[in-house]
Amino acid sequence: MLFVKEHIRKLRAYQPGLQPRDGERVIKLNTNENPYPPSPWVLESIRNEASEALRLYSDPRSRTLRQAAAALYGTSPEEVLCGNGSDEILGILLRTFTTRDDSIGYYVPSYSYYATLGSIHALRLEPTPVGDRPDHPPLPQDPGPAVFFLTNPNSPLGFSFRPEAVAKLAANLKGILVVDEAYADFARWNCLSLIREMPNVVVTRSLSKSYSLAGLRVGIALAQEPLIRQMDKVRDHYNINRIAQQAGSVALRDQKSFQENRRRVLRTRDRLFLGLRGLGLDPLPSEANFVFVRFPSPEAAASVHDGLFRQGILVRHFEQDGLVDGLRISVGTARETDRLLEALRGLL
Ligand SMILES: *Cc1c(COP(=O)(O)O)cnc(C)c1O
Repeated sequence: MLFVKEHIRKLRAYQPGLQPRDGERVIKLNTNENPYPPSPWVLESIRNEASEALRLYSDPRSRTLRQAAAALYGTSPEEVLCGNGSDEILGILLRTFTTRDDSIGYYVPSYSYYATLGSIHALRLEPTPVGDRPDHPPLPQDPGPAVFFLTNPNSPLGFSFRPEAVAKLAANLKGILVVDEAYADFARWNCLSLIREMPNVVVTRSLSKSYSLAGLRVGIALAQEPLIRQMDKVRDHYNINRIAQQAGSVALRDQKSFQENRRRVLRTRDRLFLGLRGLGLDPLPSEANFVFVRFPSPEAAASVHDGLFRQGILVRHFEQDGLVDGLRISVGTARETDRLLEALRGLL
């Protein structure tokens, strides 16, 4: 212990949602994975890539993947950086844009990994309550943080700030604004166009949720070239493995599978929302692939969570101010959603 830095000893590690072992039969609605399989072309490209070529390092510049992302998002490849999941990109952002004793900002509630990462880098944490007006992102306290993280759509609440509102936030910040768009593919709008106007905006995307590839680990950052060039110096040189580069680019090019899959998730999100209402509950409208629903008390939420768990249905309960009375439920297949609603009816 003597050798470990104090800020690491004090650190409470990030708590990922439960991942059951392969083969365990559960209905998994706790970590916002996609209930449908990835594109068949992706699976074929993985089989092809699993060859003797694996003895060679991957392309350090991830060119094929960056080109696919640039083509899809209407940018140049120089405005794209790839990460081993968008979680890795969040770390690259802190290493690029902060130094010891800087502060980082983020809304609460939102993705709790920002605070963990900030603590790992010995940064000061400045949380700002997200408020209850989706059209008005509150401004953080002055002096502005070196990096401000905006989860948009918000997780776990599910609402999304409009790009015009986010542009105002970006203009009012002295540092970098990271718009974490892990769920933007399920939303009505996104902030990608802001990278054209704002030199301090970085948009991050992920293939984990909307492309059914959480296990592949591919994330994408989009920003103006000067920012990407600096982030690129900080990245591990072989950060994306050969299989992920190939399969990720195939996934981005197969927009037909993506759109079909997305439409099914959106349809089932409606079914889940209306089903929860039908049970007399008060779900929040969602722009993502999950729904947050509140119960009359924290105890009620915890007991519903445990009751579902005993029936093999995993949902997420956050032990955090403002969230303890609710559950975040991922959008599963239509059948899984019906099973969940049935189990809830039994428990209420
Ligand atoms: C899931 C998630 C991530 C992480 O995505 P990966 O690409 O799987 O690392 C980042 N931010 C938010 C808000 C998420 O929900």
